Amino acid sequence: MHGITLLGPVVPDNSPQAKAGSGFDKSAFPIDWDRQQATCPQGAVSREWRGLRISGHDYIQVKFAKAECLACALRPQCTTSATRPRALALLPTRELHEIQTRNRLGQATEEWQKRYAIRAGIEATLSQNVRAHGLRRSRYRGLAKTHVQHVLTAMACNVARIADWISTPPTARRRASHFRALCTAAT
Ligand code: SF4
Repeated sequence: MHGITLLGPVVPDNSPQAKAGSGFDKSAFPIDWDRQQATCPQGAVSREWRGLRISGHDYIQVKFAKAECLACALRPQCTTSATRPRALALLPTRELHEIQTRNRLGQATEEWQKRYAIRAGIEATLSQNVRAHGLRRSRYRGLAKTHVQHVLTAMACNVARIADWISTPPTARRRASHFRALCTAAT
């Protein structure tokens, strides 16, 4: 809506299968949201779909048929339970589930890691502006004046950094930040 991409990691899949890096984690189960069903890697369709609240958060619990799971040849790759069928806990809406799935796959790639690494430099700049230049408080009312304040704050930050750089003896200067190294590598 605002043309902004918020880049940050989502909580990893904590299922035993995902942690072990083998077996069927949640991403191995295509979800049919219209029919409220999941299909497992063996081709079985889930039998139960119900709302659930865990630690104050809403989820959807999806369960497969016990008889099918107990007789399944792929069971060792699917569940650690000796007696129960496989169950999945999904986020409460399709949109949230798809964002989570997409982000989990994306954040495992090198490309995503490189983009996220840039944020390390941005966070340092934000922190400096918040702590030293009062970035979180607007002295004025209205978007236009607040924008001017932000521009002036950015200029003040740059001037402070230049002054620090000039007044610091070359031998005492810290090594290049990760952000700077990335920028240099990209040019
Ligand atoms: S154990 Fe159940 S859910 Fe898992 S693959 Fe077999 S039939 Fe499907």
